Amino acid sequence: MLTRIKDIATNLAPRLVEIRRHIHAHPELSGQEYQTAAFVAGVLSSSGLHVEEGVGKTGVIGEIPGNYHDSRVLAIRTDMDALPIQERSGLDYASRTEGVMHACGHDVHTTVGLGTAMILSQIADELSGKIRFIFQPAEEIAQGANWMVNDGVMNHVAAILGVHVFPSIPAGSVGIRYGALTAAADDLEISIFGESGHGARPHEAVDAIWIAAQVVTALQQAISRTQNPLRPVVLSIGKINGGRAPNIIADKVELLGTVRSLHPETRKELPQWIENIVANVCNSYGAKYQVNYRQGVPSVQNDNALTQLLQSSAEEAWSSDNVLVLPEPSLGAEDFSVYLEHAPGAMFRLGVGYKERIINHPLHHPQFEIDESAIITGVITLAYAAFKYWESK
Ligand SMILES: [Zn+2]
Ligand SMILES: [Zn+2]
Repeated sequence: MLTRIKDIATNLAPRLVEIRRHIHAHPELSGQEYQTAAFVAGVLSSSGLHVEEGVGKTGVIGEIPGNYHDSRVLAIRTDMDALPIQERSGLDYASRTEGVMHACGHDVHTTVGLGTAMILSQIADELSGKIRFIFQPAEEIAQGANWMVNDGVMNHVAAILGVHVFPSIPAGSVGIRYGALTAAADDLEISIFGESGHGARPHEAVDAIWIAAQVVTALQQAISRTQNPLRPVVLSIGKINGGRAPNIIADKVELLGTVRSLHPETRKELPQWIENIVANVCNSYGAKYQVNYRQGVPSVQNDNALTQLLQSSAEEAWSSDNVLVLPEPSLGAEDFSVYLEHAPGAMFRLGVGYKERIINHPLHHPQFEIDESAIITGVITLAYAAFKYWESK
């Protein structure tokens, strides 16, 4: 079966490059993936899949029934949205839309999803179970997976597979990671209320700016001295707002930040831990405070058996030299984790780096580019893993 999958993929390769370039040239922002969704639905229908549009707002579902014995489904998820970045790659198929760019490789993911659907539809009679392709919108704003799940895409799903491009490893290789792949990303909003006064008479006021500075410092120091260093937490205050004039002591400061963590138990403790530090500093100097901790997406925790399935599929398809078991997770976030609250799953990293270049631009960079030979690697890995999944059931 592997040889057959590889043959179909090789024949499809030029078409997949065309598809990828088309999507790359026509990027759409999160929640506005209308053209992309229509294009995806068209390709899926012409490949014989059962298609549903308008799922999760601008998402698309495609299904291959397979010769199934029960109602369980294997899901394959890819994302379709682009970023508000002006492309500077200089490629002839660069974005035609001002200020919008596929700089996170979601054009590649969509293409890999379509390629996998095209292959599996050709071997549908030999699949012993159902396969559902989830083309989700709005990953970059961490909303799309929720929209899709709310529309029922995880009903009957027994397992889910996903892929993300990775420029740090070369095209032709895949990165496998057991356990945590990405971090939980939560939003933090702290307001500090002091009392206004004349800049010349600080003792008659409560200086919210000075106290805010203490809060920022205290949080950073507390991470290094009170959090287990083997359970990483990153807290970054990215926006600070307060004060009125150089000679008026500020009565209010707002701090906005992001909090990243890998361990679910650590994450649970973070809201109270942060609030305690803010409270201690503010109480010491007579300020009032408010802390809003909003949970964003959880950490992607790859399932062992499904990670093993991805690893063995890729190793059989190429050689173990092309399969890198990644020693470290990323503190980036990925809303694939939302699906994992409903079924076990695993996501792999698809190498897209050019071997001959010293530097490959990182994700979200205006000159981000990929080695397109990676598309076929992704398609074969996913198609073969899906086949093997049902074969083992
Ligand atoms: Zn991204
Ligand atoms: Zn992405």
